[in-house]
Amino acid sequence: MSLFDSPLFKDSFDQLEMAGSVGGLDPNIIERLKYPKRALQVAVPIRLDDGQVKTFMGYRVQHNMTLGPGKGGIRYHPGVDLSETAALAMLMTFKCALVGLPLGGAKGGIQVDPNDLSRQELQSLTRRFATEISMVVGPSIDIPAPDIGTNGQTMAWFMDTYSQLKGYTVPGVVTGKPIGIGGSLGRAESTGKGVAYCVNFAAQKLGMTIDSKTSVAIHGFGKVGIPAAEDLSAQGARVVAVGDVSGAIYNENGLDIAAAKQYVRENGVVAGFPGATAISNEDLFGLDVDVLIPAAIDGVITEANAGNVKAKIIAEGANGPLTKEAIDIVSANGSFLIPDILCNAGGVIVSYFEWVQGLQNFFWGLDEINKKLHDILAQSFKTCVDTADEFKVDMKKAAFIAALKRIDRAMRLRGLFPS
Ligand code: GLU
Repeated sequence: MSLFDSPLFKDSFDQLEMAGSVGGLDPNIIERLKYPKRALQVAVPIRLDDGQVKTFMGYRVQHNMTLGPGKGGIRYHPGVDLSETAALAMLMTFKCALVGLPLGGAKGGIQVDPNDLSRQELQSLTRRFATEISMVVGPSIDIPAPDIGTNGQTMAWFMDTYSQLKGYTVPGVVTGKPIGIGGSLGRAESTGKGVAYCVNFAAQKLGMTIDSKTSVAIHGFGKVGIPAAEDLSAQGARVVAVGDVSGAIYNENGLDIAAAKQYVRENGVVAGFPGATAISNEDLFGLDVDVLIPAAIDGVITEANAGNVKAKIIAEGANGPLTKEAIDIVSANGSFLIPDILCNAGGVIVSYFEWVQGLQNFFWGLDEINKKLHDILAQSFKTCVDTADEFKVDMKKAAFIAALKRIDRAMRLRGLFPS
């Protein structure tokens, strides 16, 4: 597969070209942003528990570092490949720029189903991968974080391996670490919390209030979906459906989120949760709800099923859950879309706070973190709304244009080397 082959790369590439032309940006800047700055592909061989050796393919792609060190997660998923990783790295460039962070965009991953590996095998995989990409990461070069299939423990192993190689402890090489080794308060819930903040901003803009009359459906009941569900149901909203790889569950009176979370902790999936009816994820996407949050993976709402979506607000908790065609369809049908690079930016914003706290060895309280997160997202939401009004485009295009303007300004100031 070439760098440009994945559907997500094609979509992101098109979004870039479109935003460049609608936003009147310099074509020379757009030309530079079409290509990742650096892409590293590595083999990650590990010894399995049964003694056999198995090799996995790993990637780290740094899309653009004009605004600062690269930033972006590490994904463990069977669908990971070079092209998808490059697309996700490009999205990180725009995400960091849109919310005003002094960071560039990067992404990494391993083509693996982490559910197939034991804890020991996952540790070996992470430590070997960290070693293989150690020459391109570092606190002022590129700072990985969790993504799909990885978590605080993965970051702890990564940080430890990098530190062993250096000979001293380097907490700033990753974010999303457990609190006990320099993680930030609020980081684990930050992506979902940010989604909930953005849903509130959108509701306010549409003249809606979030209360017991508000119905919510969430695809993906994990690191993003659970805290988003908790926050919105704490505000009184009824989370009527949640779905994952096992299917979806529905209760029109609202699911008991604490019980569903406990059930998933014990059973791994939502299927079989008592007190709810089993439905398919396709049914979930088509529910007549106020808010739909696709928070699992890219490409789940396409040309084929976008016409079924009835939600007033669609909050892209995942990266790229709606294809370009799907976005045109739901926008034409009157849904208000909160684009991924805004909607799920809470994670990288609190990652940035974690990085800053680590660099200064001074840690902040949770209230301060959540307030700063809220204020950055509120400002960024306003930037997108203003840009959408100015250029008469939907929120997705507006988010790209606003992000590109910041990158464009920085690239012009820095110039092209050699000139
Ligand atoms: N993986 C998350 C994302 O896609 C977080 C990245 C980070 O914290 O660096 O935004």
